[in-house]
Amino acid sequence: MSSLTELTAHELKGLLDKGEISSKDLVKEHLERIEKVDKKVNAFMTVTKEEALKQAEVVDEKRKRSEQLSPLAGIPMALKDNMCTKGIRTTCSSKILHNFIPPYNATVVEKLMKADSIVMGKCNMDEFAMGSSTENSGYFPTKNPYDLNVVPGGSSGGSAASVAAEEVVFSLGSDTGGSIRQPAAFCGVIGLKPTYGYVSRYGLVAFASSLDQIGPFTRDMTDCALVMNEIFGHDHKDSTSAPVEVPDFTKALNNDVKGLKIGLPKEYMNEGINPDIIECYKQAVAKLEELGAVCEEVSLPHTEYALPIYYIIAPAEASSNLARYDGVRYGLRVEGEDIVSMFKKTRSQGFGEEVKRRIMLGTYALSSGYYDAYYLKALKVRTLIKQDFDQVFEKFDCLLTPTTPTTAFNFGEKVDDPLSMYMNDICTVPANLAGVPALSMPFGLSKGRPVGLQLIGKAFGEGTLLRVGYTLEQNTTLTRPRPELKGVM
Ligand code: GLN
Repeated sequence: MSSLTELTAHELKGLLDKGEISSKDLVKEHLERIEKVDKKVNAFMTVTKEEALKQAEVVDEKRKRSEQLSPLAGIPMALKDNMCTKGIRTTCSSKILHNFIPPYNATVVEKLMKADSIVMGKCNMDEFAMGSSTENSGYFPTKNPYDLNVVPGGSSGGSAASVAAEEVVFSLGSDTGGSIRQPAAFCGVIGLKPTYGYVSRYGLVAFASSLDQIGPFTRDMTDCALVMNEIFGHDHKDSTSAPVEVPDFTKALNNDVKGLKIGLPKEYMNEGINPDIIECYKQAVAKLEELGAVCEEVSLPHTEYALPIYYIIAPAEASSNLARYDGVRYGLRVEGEDIVSMFKKTRSQGFGEEVKRRIMLGTYALSSGYYDAYYLKALKVRTLIKQDFDQVFEKFDCLLTPTTPTTAFNFGEKVDDPLSMYMNDICTVPANLAGVPALSMPFGLSKGRPVGLQLIGKAFGEGTLLRVGYTLEQNTTLTRPRPELKGVM
């Protein structure tokens, strides 16, 4: 039998239901795995061992009493460290929140606890979710389970690596410009950024509020649908939460793409995309056509402006959101001669380089005299980008693109060159600007490193993405890579 940590949530559910394993066994097995693997991978900021074991006992009792349980009951999972967990340290991988213990749970955490999933811990990330490699964590970088010398992507690098290294069955991340999809692509797992408003942001530490969304990392589409079923839905605590019904996403798992119209946006296939990634992409297109989908080139003419306007809008919102870290209300406080010097010292010692860069960029773009030229202009271009999507979705059911221009890169390769780091998000930011859902799934390897395919859908059209992803999963062997964990085990 394969080891328990290899299995997906739906496979484990079968064993739990038959009584072949208990949730406590499962948690112990994953804790052992974390013990062994995480010394090298460094996916976790905090491991909540005692709480997890206790929670597992409670679920085992419920199962014994034949209570009606969620498909995720007793399944070990992890959270990005920007989701508030009552009584458990939540750092955002920032020194400024080194001692922050939230007095409440984020809505997604409440929902998963209600589903009896087991929180195993909090995952490392780029500080305040700003970055693409986890090298901006204020504590330590996370390593890619496929190769410890390369980055796992970011900013949800810890969440992606924890699932790829089989330390947990699934995890949650957040995506403002690609932070779920890019690390999913680099670590060979599935990552979904939902439609803006589909998942509550209550209790998610804000980076750029009009772009941020929480979503799952899983190892297959069925697990992705199961997690979506639990975390999606309207929440009166989040004023941007969409008041829509949540379907049963497992119903979208159909092995059938006949007649589906899939657009292939030409602007995403620029010269910056690595040839091996183009090869995998072409293979996926050929497979989908063979299975009856109609794939055609489409144009989203404003795509080239997505990255520059993202780097105005996201820092502008961040500069406002991060004003609250002042040494008074949360976390770190460095004393000074007077209140202004206390603010200055706290913020200059508490925030890392990248966070300071974003605050300065954002403050500049919002300042009087520059607001119209930068921020307001960027908002107008954002509307044009959204209209590009509206237009293609009149004729097409979804779009297929690479997730990233390259596979995982080496540590240190881009840290001193913020622009080349920002370029990594070129395929992912448009979906955040338009608020539409997008999913990254593994599709083959290039020189031993995973390649990610991105599916972009209509607002609230996550079902189509699952259907295409599931069909690819059923008809090729390229969608479930596993790291050898060389040098780890
Ligand atoms: N890498 C992008 C950034 O640094 C995206 C981050 C994210 O999605 N949180 O802004």
